Amino acid sequence: PASVGELIGGREPTFSFEFFPPRDEQQERQLWQAIRELEPLHPSFVSITYGAGGSTRDNTVAATERVATETTLLPMAHLTAVSHSVAELRNVIGRFAGAGIRNVLAVRGDPPGDPQGEWVRHPQGVLYAEDLVRLVKEAGDFCVGVAAFPYKHPRSPSVEADTEHFVRKCRAGADFAITQMFFDADDYLRLRDRVAEAGGRTPILAGIMPVTSMRTIERAAVLSGAPFPPALAAQFERISDDPVAVRRLGIEQASLLCERLLAEGVPGIHFITLNRSTATREVWQNLPMGVRI
Ligand code: FAD
Repeated sequence: PASVGELIGGREPTFSFEFFPPRDEQQERQLWQAIRELEPLHPSFVSITYGAGGSTRDNTVAATERVATETTLLPMAHLTAVSHSVAELRNVIGRFAGAGIRNVLAVRGDPPGDPQGEWVRHPQGVLYAEDLVRLVKEAGDFCVGVAAFPYKHPRSPSVEADTEHFVRKCRAGADFAITQMFFDADDYLRLRDRVAEAGGRTPILAGIMPVTSMRTIERAAVLSGAPFPPALAAQFERISDDPVAVRRLGIEQASLLCERLLAEGVPGIHFITLNRSTATREVWQNLPMGVRI
């Protein structure tokens, strides 16, 4: 099937890989090496994030189009509302359609420069991801995903408000959701429970990023806007002067996290690859879907 939504809820949980758009030729080569090395794992789909601005946005469209035409993979493009008028958003969505891309992850995006800064809507743009979901759905026969936040979105005043807005966004037409990266399965399960309690029925895929160095721990906190679990951070701290041991623990922890999520019936696992293939492949090989091949 050409739709991520149809794959989710099938007999097996989905597994998918996320990449970011390259900024230069060296990054482009690295991206394509990672894609080629991960392709034999037959992921359910792969996604390319949408740049914060400028030319990487064109690179999102170009890279996603290339996945559609030159690989056996099912592509999904991310799209954000930052610095775009509705007319520009329609134009990008039209380019997706023209390139045969039917799956779109509609997220609001963060302000360029300072992600924690004030979010200013483009004068002719949209305010929330919810509006972007409607825009993409109205534009054609797209399967649309949205973002979910196990620790609540950093801008949300409370977990309750966050849940309410998430369910509204899903009702606007989302076919599925993907979480921000998290490192404790209970955080995912609490999100799933509170969404279900609020009447949300949208399947929520788990966003997973294996720790490969002490730097990824810091980066995780910045990227996700959520604290890294202190007990787990302490485990890494104890071996922080041994990069090989840090990496090994990171792969082991990510594998255990995925195993627990699969045992709890997660509909899918979405790996944030940072355009590298090895760590993702190592985790994947530890999982039931990896053992099968
Ligand atoms: P929204 O759902 O619009 O929520 C933003 C805030 O507004 C939340 O606090 C929410 O509770 C609140 N809110 C929502 N609706 C209402 C309402 N009606 N009234 C009042 N408050 C409301 N960023 C990129 O730049 N490019 C990417 O490719 C990208 N991909 C991502 C993929 C995933 C899986 C995730 C989890 C995040 C991704 N991001 C990406 C980051 C994302 O853009 C930011 O986290 C952004 O701040 C939130 O986006 P959102 O779609 O959740 O926003």
